[in-house]
Parts: sequence; C-alpha cells; structure tokens
Amino acid sequence: MSNLLERLRLRGWRMTAQRRVVAEVLDGEHIHLTADEVLTRATARLPEISRATVYNTLGELVALGEVVEVSSVGRAKRYDPNVLRAHQHLVCAGCGTVKDVHPQGNPLDVLPEGERFGFTVTGADVTYRGLCPACAAARGGDGELPDDGRPEGESPGGEPPGGESPARPQ
Ligand SMILES: [Zn+2]
Ligand SMILES: [Zn+2]
Repeated sequence: MSNLLERLRLRGWRMTAQRRVVAEVLDGEHIHLTADEVLTRATARLPEISRATVYNTLGELVALGEVVEVSSVGRAKRYDPNVLRAHQHLVCAGCGTVKDVHPQGNPLDVLPEGERFGFTVTGADVTYRGLCPACAAARGGDGELPDDGRPEGESPGGEPPGGESPARPQ
C-alpha cells in the first residue's frame, strides 16, 4: 500500500473535499495514472471537481514528495504514490498496465565507472517491457510485438514475455 492518505493526514495536509478525492484516486498499489485519468476518476467521485483543482493538487503532491512523476519517452507523464520503497516499472506494451517491480541489486551498480563521464550518479530508472498475460493470450501467446515505431530502444534480446520462461533450465 502507498498509504498516501495516511501520510498526508500525518503531515497535516489541508484536506478539502476536492483535494481528498484526488488523494483517494491516487492511493493504492501499482497506481500510475496520467493527469487526465486522475481527473476522470476524481470527477466520477465528485462531479463538481474542477480540472484546475486536480492539476494544482497533483503539482502540490509532487512538490511535497508524496507522489512522483514517472516519465516514459513518447508517453504521457504518470503519477505514482509509491514513494516509500524504491522500485522500477514493468510496462505492458499492449494495454499500458504498469506494475511496480523490485529487481535484485541496485540498478546504479550496473553502470560501469567508465560510462559515468565524471557524473556523481544518484539515481536510475529502469523500465522493463513486455506483454501482460492477458495481452499475450489475446495475441495467440507468441508474445510477438508489433513494430510501433517508438523512438527508444526496446528490450534488447527480446525475450518473449508471458508463458513459460525460455531461460529456465529443465
Ligand atoms: Zn497488457
Ligand atoms: Zn511505480
């Protein structure tokens, strides 16, 4: 759980009805919503909520460090309330589902010294891509991804997602 509401309550965040709805929409596990998705869900709970309030509240939660923005090249920014435990993301190329995942080891450690260009490197965001089980099944289970022309380099090695892992020794 992200316990976003609880964290906001503890820090004395001014909780109006509108702001509470935004926080409620964002609270939970594996929540990665675009601003428009937050607006849609908030409006379903509180029809009179305004777009400006939703966007302002999102900006404030980010400024407070209670929600982080997750950016992915070519996709809309998403808002993630899971700020307590470091995690990376697993994204379905079919439906866009995003899961929080926890790879073994620290992704910072795998960047060799020679490729740090003198930077003090303080963070790394890793996005794992593939197909969720439902999307893999809908495509006949071969995990073949369409060439959708996205600009970033995708999954070198192209291990087909879903089904049995081909890497597993028998
Ligand atoms: Zn999917
Ligand atoms: Zn996340």
